[in-house]
Amino acid sequence: MDIKVNLERLKSDIEELAQVGRDPRGGISRPSFSQADLEARQWLKEKICQAGLCFRQDGAGNMFGRLGEKGRAVLVGSHIDTVLNGGKFDGSAGVLAGLECLRRIQEEGVRPARPLEVVSFTDEEGNLVGDFLGSRAFVGLLNREELEQGITSFGRPLKDILAGTGFTLESILRAQEERPEIEAFLELHIEQGSVLETEGFTIGIVERIAGKNYRWCSFVGKPDHGGTTPLELRRDAFLATADFALRATQRVATRHYGSMITFGKVAVHPGSFSVVPGQVDFSLDFRSASPETLEALEKELLAMAEDIASTRGLAFYSRVVDRTEPVEVPPRLIGVLREECQKLGYPFLQVTSGAGHDAQMVSSVADSGMIFIPCRDGISHSPEEDIDWEDLEKGANLLLRTLLRLASPP
Ligand SMILES: [Zn+2]
Repeated sequence: MDIKVNLERLKSDIEELAQVGRDPRGGISRPSFSQADLEARQWLKEKICQAGLCFRQDGAGNMFGRLGEKGRAVLVGSHIDTVLNGGKFDGSAGVLAGLECLRRIQEEGVRPARPLEVVSFTDEEGNLVGDFLGSRAFVGLLNREELEQGITSFGRPLKDILAGTGFTLESILRAQEERPEIEAFLELHIEQGSVLETEGFTIGIVERIAGKNYRWCSFVGKPDHGGTTPLELRRDAFLATADFALRATQRVATRHYGSMITFGKVAVHPGSFSVVPGQVDFSLDFRSASPETLEALEKELLAMAEDIASTRGLAFYSRVVDRTEPVEVPPRLIGVLREECQKLGYPFLQVTSGAGHDAQMVSSVADSGMIFIPCRDGISHSPEEDIDWEDLEKGANLLLRTLLRLASPP
């Protein structure tokens, strides 16, 4: 069957949604349950209903539009929330491409054997209590403690943010009970990197999604006078941090090539001109597509930090803030995506996703796959986020054909 998406309609949906939550700094600020998000939800609900799909929402605010009735559903979607001052394609492209696919199937009067369902997951960006609130609630990977104790990035507890929205901590925890039976999940997303663009490919078929380990760490030494304390008597927490950052990065680059390590946030205390830094707090983010490597990295990096601390007469502390396991996309999904891509004549590359996605969470309950399309200069989470519309058209056409295949068992 040769159905294609209607790019003009998909484009106008993306542009329309991008008007909701416009940030004066030029981008879009639409964190989940903000005024802008509630407006965007209303907009999406209307689009789903206009498409003739059956609309529903679960206790975590995940939104669904279903085509077809009984049976294991093939799910497609992503998220419509954004980071603060983010772009218009991250997440939205996946939800609206999914909606466009279902709309085309509906218009052509095609009735696949299995139901199809478009989904928009709540708070993928982690503005509330860690990444993937909605998809974690959907698969049952959230606990009450996290929801009660977690402080959102707006300084208020989640409970307060939910007030007046109709959602509660209880309803979020119960969302998993409303989960339909799922045959498979597909997510189209911008790449958020520059591999496809640099290599000249339109489509990325994701083979793995990297797992991550986020930690808050501190080296604690002693704040001394910068003019009077001899170098050999200092317990300088900044030098320990610098030493650790360099050695750890070198270790990853030489022994675990392909894995990632980032020191994104560093606070030096007391942070004054002439005082030896007595304490440094820093973030440590390391990722790998291999579970064994991720585990090895944790052991090696922590041992290295302890060693540096003891050599320099300091203490080292570290605690986990967030962690996810790497995910392998099942070969049967990669196989269908490859075949359909070849039939369409689109050049594709099989890639690893270094960023986390809802598909990673859904993979704990159903086969999940991803299609990447290039984004200009690899930029995302920024007003500068941009794509080539033809790439989106191709990605959405691949999505459409793959959905039909998965929903029509031989
Ligand atoms: Zn996203």
